[in-house]
Amino acid sequence: MNARTILIEGAVDSELSALIERFKPEGVHEMGGGWRVLTCDMAGGRVALLNTGVGVANAAAATALACAALNPAAVISQGTAGAHDISLHTGDVVVGTRILRLGAYRSPAREHGVAPLEWQMLDQSGDTGPVREYASDVRLAKAARTALTERGYGQAGNPRALDGTIGSGDVWNCEFDMIAHLNARYGTACEEMETYSAASVCDRMVVPFLSLRVISNNERIGESYAPEVAAQLQRAVGDIAEALVKGET
Ligand code: SAH
Repeated sequence: MNARTILIEGAVDSELSALIERFKPEGVHEMGGGWRVLTCDMAGGRVALLNTGVGVANAAAATALACAALNPAAVISQGTAGAHDISLHTGDVVVGTRILRLGAYRSPAREHGVAPLEWQMLDQSGDTGPVREYASDVRLAKAARTALTERGYGQAGNPRALDGTIGSGDVWNCEFDMIAHLNARYGTACEEMETYSAASVCDRMVVPFLSLRVISNNERIGESYAPEVAAQLQRAVGDIAEALVKGET
């Protein structure tokens, strides 16, 4: 096995296609269950690309299989996300410095009616608190900020890159009030479906983890889902992975 494997995950083809074009992977590792890793060897190690499939269960299973098979030096979980922060625009990038689980709740007892805003978040232990959070590895987040800056993020007229809280679960919220509520109560910058489960598996398997998301939609300001922005993020992600393989960061 090579010295350093950097595993990059996406959930759908469009979240990996630009990386496949860039790295032209020649290796294929079948891991079972239809999950396969594509690898590209280079000086210092290799970049490995994994299409996890969408959602919590897919991301967890695929990440566990790939970590066991490849023993990666880092996992980069990346792709699109819907904004909760009203100031974020399509194309902006969030570095996941805080990762929360969405969609797992316990409701207070109530004989009639439903009140979703009173539901309490559920931890992986099945209790309502304290709820475990995850974070991107500090060194990897720093490398990501450097690569994003070098790609022009934050310059006048360009998309921004900022640290933020990623809400993650098998949910796609389009109700303005629910989005505003999650943003206000939990400080979520955006939501998507894979980061928390991948982060929790990497934590258990002691693999450094980096979360990066490009905003593909912001319902509250009328920006609807534009999955093609995934290609923009992949440029910076490719830079980060290459620098990590080469030991430049
Ligand atoms: N079938 C479509 C959509 C799949 S879901 C496609 O192929 O493009 C797309 C991915 O977008 C999920 O993996 C999720 O992580 C992410 N995503 C983007 N915006 C989201 C939002 N507002 N809420 C939840 N997930 C979102």
